[in-house]
Amino acid sequence: MALIYDAWTAAQEDRGLIPPPEDPFNGLEVCSLCGGSSPELTVFRDGLAVCEDCLHDYLRAQADRFTTQYIDDNQARFYLTFWWDNLPQQERLAIAKREYCKQRQLLAQAGDVAGLKDYLDCEQDFMMDAEDWMDYVKDKLG
Ligand SMILES: [Zn+2]
Repeated sequence: MALIYDAWTAAQEDRGLIPPPEDPFNGLEVCSLCGGSSPELTVFRDGLAVCEDCLHDYLRAQADRFTTQYIDDNQARFYLTFWWDNLPQQERLAIAKREYCKQRQLLAQAGDVAGLKDYLDCEQDFMMDAEDWMDYVKDKLG
């Protein structure tokens, strides 16, 4: 019965015979989560409309699904800054030394003389740039 009445009412409204019901929210949209009305809602693909008050908590509840992809899309910021800066110094040293020695060894095994020379030059530059290299060598020579 209600369906028939609704259809009849809608038809009358369409013909301008009955004014449409007043919008109780004055043109404001309604948040799908809290039911509150808001002039600005974020509407997602699935049709969910979320107000500013609910947005943070809603996005936080969804965030775990996207963590891996977020890291993939922000690799330099994650690996070089966030992760690296939060590692203890000893772990950073172990990782860097392991990778450095591995690369140097791969070049040697491959017979890549130019690549290996770059590593050797880098090592010599490191020592020659240091202020204490003369004292160090003198001390080693006895
Ligand atoms: Zn809300």
